[in-house]
Amino acid sequence: MNIIIFGAPGAGKGTQSDLLAKNFSLKKISTGDLLREEINNKSDLGKKIKDLIEKGQLVSDEIIIDLIENIFKDQNKNFNFVFDGFPRTLKQAEILEKKLKNYNEKIDFVFNLEVNRDEIIKRISGRIFCTKCNKIFNNHFNSPLSSEHKCGDSYLKKRADDTVEVVEKRYDTYIKQTAPLIKFYIEANNLHTVSGLSSINEIFGQITSLIKQ
Ligand code: AMP
Repeated sequence: MNIIIFGAPGAGKGTQSDLLAKNFSLKKISTGDLLREEINNKSDLGKKIKDLIEKGQLVSDEIIIDLIENIFKDQNKNFNFVFDGFPRTLKQAEILEKKLKNYNEKIDFVFNLEVNRDEIIKRISGRIFCTKCNKIFNNHFNSPLSSEHKCGDSYLKKRADDTVEVVEKRYDTYIKQTAPLIKFYIEANNLHTVSGLSSINEIFGQITSLIKQ
């Protein structure tokens, strides 16, 4: 089974794809995580994309397709993916379709997490994560100080692209380049829109029942 978790930045894609990966034994592919790894490793690719990401722009389709192709090559026909933050352009979606077909695979579900712009800006501007346990927190509604987080404050960090200015840019990029994919997946007949404003467990419950229907 292959699933796409779709939505604007800050819609909750990472959280829901982690839950799907764990509960349905899927491999999570977050292109954002893969790109940040390149930046942290200071690889040639990392140096090339750092600026673009920190300005809230998209990395080129060619770079993204190469990343995905490398993962597919290593799969040994075991395709059980949850894609988080990919595809983000029509070209990426079309190429994903073609590549999956080559392996006799398809996308089974696309879950579109719907969250309004004001909520997105609020969520992302408060977002922080722990560099030790990788958990994501939020200063506005899920503070690491009031939760059971034990790693210590020194590990808490903000993503370089999680500032208000960059989030506004990322949201615009989403509307212009990524939101048109909603029509693409409606036509492909596998899009399910779920409100991203409910609680994490409620959203996951809705997604789970759609999968099991
Ligand atoms: P994310 O962690 O998914 O919010 O991604 C962080 C940033 O990485 C995005 O704002 C883009 O600059 C870049 N990025 C991640 N995935 C893609 C993709 N599929 N296509 C183009 N750029 C991407």
